[in-house]
Amino acid sequence: MSSEELKKIKRQRIISSLIILLLSTLIAVFSINTATETGEKIGYTLAGVSTILAAFAALSLYRTLKIKIPESKIYTIVKCTACGYETKRPYKNGDYVHKKEGKCPTCGKQTIIDAIYQEITFK
Ligand SMILES: [Zn+2]
Repeated sequence: MSSEELKKIKRQRIISSLIILLLSTLIAVFSINTATETGEKIGYTLAGVSTILAAFAALSLYRTLKIKIPESKIYTIVKCTACGYETKRPYKNGDYVHKKEGKCPTCGKQTIIDAIYQEITFK
């Protein structure tokens, strides 16, 4: 799965957990109020069930927020063989190792692509 798809799933899970948490908390509060006012036992049962539901939703939300999504980026290292100047930039289409790049900003000689690599970060 791509990190974009994972991000989408994470967002959907956060939203649905929040909605369930909100609704079950509202039902819990409402049924406790009704039960204390009318003395109906079903109100307490409903409050208990919705409190458990709220706890599960909170747990689900907490666990979803803890999911870290890996994100990969490709970098190109441009190097000057004459003076050792080195710079890192995002990979561009058509980059390859030993490809000639622009002039070196420190000594004015030809620079080349020395390396291309992928970096994975967790967000
Ligand atoms: Zn140089």
